[in-house]
Amino acid sequence: MVKNELRSSTEAEVVAELRRRPAFVMVSHVKPDGDTLGAGLALGLALKRAGKRVQYFQQDAVPRNLRFLPETQYVSREIPADLPPDTLYVFCDMSDYTRAGEFLPKIERANMLDIDHHLGNKHFGAFNFVIPTECSTGTAVMRLLREMRATIDADVATCILTTIMTDTGGFMHSNTSPDALELAAELMRDGADKEEITEEIFANKRVVATRLLGRIIDAMQFEQDGRYCYSHVDDAMLAETGADGEDTEDIVNVLRGQENVEVAALFKAIDGEIRVSLRSNGRVNVQAAAARLGGGGHFRASGLTFHGPLEAAYAAVGAALLAEGL
Ligand code: AMP
Ligand code: MN
Ligand code: MN
Repeated sequence: MVKNELRSSTEAEVVAELRRRPAFVMVSHVKPDGDTLGAGLALGLALKRAGKRVQYFQQDAVPRNLRFLPETQYVSREIPADLPPDTLYVFCDMSDYTRAGEFLPKIERANMLDIDHHLGNKHFGAFNFVIPTECSTGTAVMRLLREMRATIDADVATCILTTIMTDTGGFMHSNTSPDALELAAELMRDGADKEEITEEIFANKRVVATRLLGRIIDAMQFEQDGRYCYSHVDDAMLAETGADGEDTEDIVNVLRGQENVEVAALFKAIDGEIRVSLRSNGRVNVQAAAARLGGGGHFRASGLTFHGPLEAAYAAVGAALLAEGL
């Protein structure tokens, strides 16, 4: 397990910095999920209401299932040329700024705030609000909103509840703490639309996505006496079903949910690279396994990008998992 000995900034330190800065760029990670985007939108909304200038940067398009969130019409991969030099770039939900992609201009460390809950966060910013015990980056943002005494209106509440429901898998994963449930209740009282979040993110699957799921299930393989389940998706499977990369997001959890499976991996060989999603039932640390191959994440959910043929990816990931005790 990667130990994080680095000191996190306090709420008061971060909020003092937010008050000092005139302009912000909220930055989310590539292949965005409801946590990276919801956390940035919630803080961005609060900062706008405090009279600040706020942009939202995200290299990839807003996924279909997150377009219901407020402010998503302003999310873009363009950075305006007239931002002041002391603009603060707020990186949400990533261990390293490289997870934001290649389209960001070079940013000085002095202008980086890192808000996150990943194990092994690199503390790459001048300010690092990194709390691995938080269930989502959005709940870390909630601490800052409280410190700011920001009004939690229905839009902000919906964004934060989206981060919780995304990263707890709809209150099913082990990070669903009593605090997370209490905060979710409070956010619903503030007007968060739980029904809409459920419908948009967890229901509402495209038929082509379900056809793709069938193909991936057909391709499941088991090793280690059935404790390791893995499968793959490639460009041809997408073309044949009419699905796309966004439709692959939750599928690794289906593999992990098979009886006796302790670790699951989904290898996504799409557009010339292999993105691997790993999930664990809690015995094997898949963050440590991913870190062996340049990736990262959490104890029970991690990922990495592999360059090379699929068979080599199977071998490398299998070896990393065995080294972590699978
Ligand atoms: P995913 O399987 O894409 O849902 O990702 C699971 C977890 O692993 C998330 O916390 C991601 O932030 C993290 N993760 C995924 N891919 C990478 C990567 N290439 N490098 C570092 N962390 C990753
Ligand atoms: Mn994320
Ligand atoms: Mn997260």
